[in-house]
Amino acid sequence: MKKTNIIDISMDLNAKTIVWTADPPPNLKPILRKPKDECNFTWLDFGSHAGTHIDAPYYLYSKKWTTDKIPFARLMGACQVLDLTDVSNTITVQALKRHAITRRIILLKTKNSYDPMKKYNPQHVDLSPEGADYLVKKGVLTLGYDYQSFEREGKNILHRIFLSRSITLIDNLRLKHAREKEYFLICLPIKVTGIDGAPARAILLEQCRL
Ligand SMILES: [Zn+2]
Repeated sequence: MKKTNIIDISMDLNAKTIVWTADPPPNLKPILRKPKDECNFTWLDFGSHAGTHIDAPYYLYSKKWTTDKIPFARLMGACQVLDLTDVSNTITVQALKRHAITRRIILLKTKNSYDPMKKYNPQHVDLSPEGADYLVKKGVLTLGYDYQSFEREGKNILHRIFLSRSITLIDNLRLKHAREKEYFLICLPIKVTGIDGAPARAILLEQCRL
């Protein structure tokens, strides 16, 4: 018999969530609270790239997909986690070549997944442009990562490599509990229409033998 294990790989999104340095922190404003009010009602105020989220090509290319237009096949399907926790600084082509890439949805697990996320770490593990080109050549269609961005500075060099080819990006995954293997990914952004990024709940499904 088989049982499905579910691993939550989403970041908690609240006022303490570490966001991009230029962005204000998320504000979950309590509008109504019981017992004073009839119900609990909260006003959400945060950027489209806060917490675990999808980057749509529209972020850099105004004529390309917004988050609501990304095909479900990019957001749900067989995926592969690559364990790159041995990388201390930058993920290079050499580091990627140590792993056989067998799927078109790839999640890169680095030591960022073990960061307590108390403050923004400008020296988080990043990906080299050559590493990005290598993943493009491997036919990756969706790429997930465990920090706010693949790149340390906001120059969007890597974002251009991926988004110009309409490769879907998932940022701020928490992959501590995922191992190097294949899973089934579900990562659906909320259906806000016409924008560049949207928060998402991401889970991995794992088939286990009982
Ligand atoms: Zn983003």
